[in-house]
Formats: sequence, C-alpha cells, structure tokens
Amino acid sequence: MQKPKFNITYTNLPDGFYIPYQPEPAPKAKTVLLNYNLAENLGVDENWLGSKPALDFFSGHAFSKDSPPIAMAYAGHQFGGFSPRLGDGRAALIGEFLDGDGARRDIHLKGCGRTSFSRGGDGKAALRAVLKEYIFSESLAALGIPTTRSLAALTTGETVMRQKLHPGAILVRTAKSHIRVGTFQYARLMQDETALKALADYTIERLYSDIGNTSPYVQLLATVIDKQAKLIAKWMSFGFIHGVMNTDNMAISGETIDFGPCAFMEKFRADQVFSSVDHHGRYAWNKQPEMAYWNLMRFAECLLPLLHTDEDKAVEIAKTELAKFSTAFTQNFNGLMLAKIGLVADNNGAEEILRDMMSLLSNTQTDYTQFFRRLTDSVTTGDDSTFLALFTDAAQTNAWLKTYTKQSANPKIMAAINPIYIPRFAQTEDALEAAENGDLSGATQLLEALKKPFTKQEAYAELAKPIQQEGIPPQTYCET
Ligand code: AMP
Ligand code: MG
Repeated sequence: MQKPKFNITYTNLPDGFYIPYQPEPAPKAKTVLLNYNLAENLGVDENWLGSKPALDFFSGHAFSKDSPPIAMAYAGHQFGGFSPRLGDGRAALIGEFLDGDGARRDIHLKGCGRTSFSRGGDGKAALRAVLKEYIFSESLAALGIPTTRSLAALTTGETVMRQKLHPGAILVRTAKSHIRVGTFQYARLMQDETALKALADYTIERLYSDIGNTSPYVQLLATVIDKQAKLIAKWMSFGFIHGVMNTDNMAISGETIDFGPCAFMEKFRADQVFSSVDHHGRYAWNKQPEMAYWNLMRFAECLLPLLHTDEDKAVEIAKTELAKFSTAFTQNFNGLMLAKIGLVADNNGAEEILRDMMSLLSNTQTDYTQFFRRLTDSVTTGDDSTFLALFTDAAQTNAWLKTYTKQSANPKIMAAINPIYIPRFAQTEDALEAAENGDLSGATQLLEALKKPFTKQEAYAELAKPIQQEGIPPQTYCET
C-alpha cells in the first residue's frame, strides 16, 4: 500500500491567499463511496484509498506532515453582488500530488468544519449534497466535460440542519486546481501588484505551462476565455445548467466546479432555471454564455495591471481578448449541436436545419436527451417510430425530418455524443433520499449507469426514460 506523496505548493504564494487550517475530526467517519476508477486514472494506489489511514486523512484525524491543510481565500460576485471575502468556509486543501501524467492535482475536502471564512455557516455539508456533487461530477466526467472529480464520500456521524436534519458528510474532491476567478478578485483587492503577479505566475506554471514568455498574462487571459467558451458550449450541448455561476464558482482551470442547484434539462426550455434562489433567471440554460462572459470581464479587470503599464492600453488589450469569447463559444456550440445531429458545418443547409430543430425543440418541449438519442437510433436503423413517439403531434417533426433526412447524417458521430444516461431529476432525488435513509443502492446503480453514458445497458433501462410529468419543471435547492 502506497500513500500518494502529498505536499502543498499553494503555500508558496504570499500570505493572505490562504489560512492554515485543521479540518474538524469527524466523530464517527464512515466511507460511503470510493472512486476506484478515478484513483486508477490518477495513479493513486487503490489499496491506500480503501484503507484506514486514508479514511483518517479524509476525516480530519490524520494529516500529512508535508502538507499542513489550508483554507483558501477568495472573493466573489454572487448573483451580481460583490463579496470581498468568501473563501473556503467549509472546505480545505489537504494535499497536492502529481498524477500518473505528472500533472499536479488538489485533494480538497468539502464539509470539514468551520473556518475563519465561514461567516454564519456551520462549515458542514449534508450527505445528499455531497452525493449530488459526486453523481453529477462523475456524470460530467464520463460525458467528456471538464470537471472537478469525486474521489470519495464519507459520513461524519453528525447531523446537519438545512431545511430539515440530514446526515453530515464530507466530499473528497480532486481538481487541477481550486483557483477561481474569485481568487483573482481577492488578489486584486490586496492592492499589491507583487501578490497579483505571484498568483498569475503560479497559475500559469501550474495550469498553463505551455504559455511562453511573450505577454504571458495576455495569453493567460486568452486561454481562460477560450477554456470557458468551450466549457459552456459543452455544458449547453448536453443540456446542463450549472445554476450558480458566481465568480467564485468559475475555475481558472476550465473545470466545472461547485455543483449546487445544477441539473440536466429534461423538457427543453431555453430559459430553464434550476435554482430556487435564482428568481430572475440569471443562470438559465441559454444565459450561461452571457454570464460566463460577465465573469470573464471581472477576471480581465483583475489582470489589468499585468496586461500593460498604461491603463488605457491594458483596457484595450482586455477588450480585444474578451471580444473573442462570443465567436469561440458560437463556433464550439454550433459544432457540437451539428455533431449531435450527425452533420458538419460544410453540409449544405446544415445551419438552417439546426435552427429549425431548436424551434422544434422549443415548440414541443421534448425531452432534450431523448430527442437526440432516439434520433441517433433512427438514423442508425432507418426506423423513426421511437423518435416520433416522443411527440404528441408529429406534424412539425415530420416536416423537419423531411429536410433532415435528405442530409447524410453520420450515426457514429451521433452515438458518440448523444448520451442515453444523464442524472435525471426524479431518479437522482430518489437515490439521494434513499441514501440519507441508509440505502445506497439507488446511488450506486445510478453511478454505474452514468459511467458509460453512451452505451445501452439493459439493466438500467428505467434510467433512460424521458420525463413524463407535466407542468412546471422541478427546481433544485441550494441546501448544500
Ligand atoms: P457555494 O455556494 O458552495 O459556492 O459557497 C459560497 C460561499 O459560501 C463559499 O465561501 C463557501 O465556503 C461558503 N459556504 C457555503 N456553505 C457554507 C456552510 N455550510 N458553512 C460555511 N460556509 C459555507
Ligand atoms: Mg462555491
């Protein structure tokens, strides 16, 4: 059994970026889920992951003396309002290690007790929220969407009060890094250019070491803008709604981070919102590019002193880079949406077919995932009966199909990009509820199915069914 070699390089940053912090020892820690697949991918010894020393490490009972844990400092715009001091209020960085490819990874705990960033919070996490993040992050990873991952989930033996009492839990997550747009906002507030530069240099070395010596900070801005454009395009192509795209929840690595009220859209509605606290539809499905752009403007503002010594010139540079977001997003999104129907941009009339398809989806509010998957099956077999069964009135669909079938759609491309399994609302809720009552079978089944989202698995046929119920789509709550 080999424990990964942990250390923490984040503490090389100037004081102020973090606070030394000891996670609270969980009174009765018990492993709930261990992600052996991820351990293997990261080169973490599976025997160690399942061991008592690992459980002690994750539950605040043992520390790696080479990596004294820290709580990271960051600021953030939450729903548009600025908080100068957020930070890890219930989380800690307990180690960094090099994965099998030599890339540095964070091991982070979520739900490990109060820190000096906790404000009014209890520093804890409820089991259902921990499992929700576990399920969603692993689903995104299997779909090929950049994301933080979940290495383990444990219960602490405590109860946590949200809208009701829940078992307390800790999520052990891994990330390329936990540096956020909010971390840069925090650095900018320090009004110390050396500190800002230290963070930018650390970020480049850690995440984007291929950035050369010519205007590295402009390149950093350009890279982050491009990563986010690609990320949001991917989210949207799968119908994913993050739900709380605050600047503290936007990772500079381009990984999806902090799964609160997130969801996969079931019935298609472009303005679908999933967070019960998002009253103005700020983070609706189709608002996500705009919101990412807004966050990236905040990121660019932080970098201004590093972009040019002349402020006007720095602003010009930032504007030039920011202007590339829209094209990058649109190109990526259109490319993905075309691939979902087996076409490429060169196909004559493809863009028009795509536009009509979006109207069809909007008008019929069809199950988004099943629309593409059944279309894939229909292109593969030539039988469109299961696809047509999705619609109560197939007239508009037939009209669209007539033009679409004239194109030679590639079913292989479609099968590789259109999932069968996503964490659907009802099944995920059932699995989380059961898990809180001690029955993990629903959660483990769901995780098994989601591991291979593009492959038909007879045992999980129930999990692929399109949404049935009518009326207002369910909302999800923060209660994390
Ligand atoms: P989130 O909504 O998870 O992105 O968190 C936003 C901010 O609130 C971060 O600074 C968190 O650390 C903090 N926070 C969220 N929940 C809690 C909690 N239960 N206790 C302490 N801080 C929390
Ligand atoms: Mg957060």
